[in-house]
Amino acid sequence: MYRGRIAPSPTGFLHLGHARTFWTAQRRAEAAGGILILRNEDLDRARCRKEFAEAMFEDLRWFGFRWQEGPDCGGPCGPYAQSARLEFYRAALEKLRRAGWIYPCRCSRQDVLRAPGAPHADLEEPVYPGTCRPAAGAAPAGHDLAVNWRFRAADGEAVGFADGFFGSQQFVAGKDFGDFVVWRHDGAPSYQLAVVVDDAAMGITEVVRGADLLVSTARQLLLYRALELEPPAFWHCPLVTDASGARLAKRHDALSLRRLREKGMTPEGVRESWVCQ
Ligand SMILES: [Zn+2]
Repeated sequence: MYRGRIAPSPTGFLHLGHARTFWTAQRRAEAAGGILILRNEDLDRARCRKEFAEAMFEDLRWFGFRWQEGPDCGGPCGPYAQSARLEFYRAALEKLRRAGWIYPCRCSRQDVLRAPGAPHADLEEPVYPGTCRPAAGAAPAGHDLAVNWRFRAADGEAVGFADGFFGSQQFVAGKDFGDFVVWRHDGAPSYQLAVVVDDAAMGITEVVRGADLLVSTARQLLLYRALELEPPAFWHCPLVTDASGARLAKRHDALSLRRLREKGMTPEGVRESWVCQ
């Protein structure tokens, strides 16, 4: 049984880029005779807002999205809002800690960016220089949720996968990505840990998302292995860009579904414009 998901964050209004990726997810679920799950990725307490969450549901429905499990309609794998799933993330963190996969890190983001030789400072998460990494074989660190925790990615290990859209992919630990944060000192899991725990717990069989997350898939495959979970298949969609070639972000208000609707665009009109590209 195919189980797909769409996983928006209520940190702003949804825009065309989200709609296009989510539409691909919905179409793939329908084509496989499967179901689609809506997961509200609302872990970022500083940026998620109630009015954005309300707008998110309204905009998704207006555009034609239909899901069979979600925060509004329930289902067997709930809760479907990440803010209500902290116990699952804590359990996964504890499993990683006991097995020695992770270590506490007291470096700030600025420390990591300033480190000599930090090669990929333009990545969404710079390659960690290893400042706090314990020696191999060290005993698991003590339990402390008030610091960042990093997953140890073995230097030089190549992580490969077959992407449904982009084909064969390979990323090398220590070069394309480094030891990555799985838990933040403010008491919340990182995106990487939360989506792996949720996609596994919700029985997702294929993850459809934007191509900006291709490298993250390599990190997440290491987490699946460490947590002894079966990874889903992956399908990454090309990113939608604006007229100048810049990637769409939530600040592109003119391309938000809200504004397009106010300007009289119909969901059918938007979808027809995709077919022509
Ligand atoms: Zn550190």
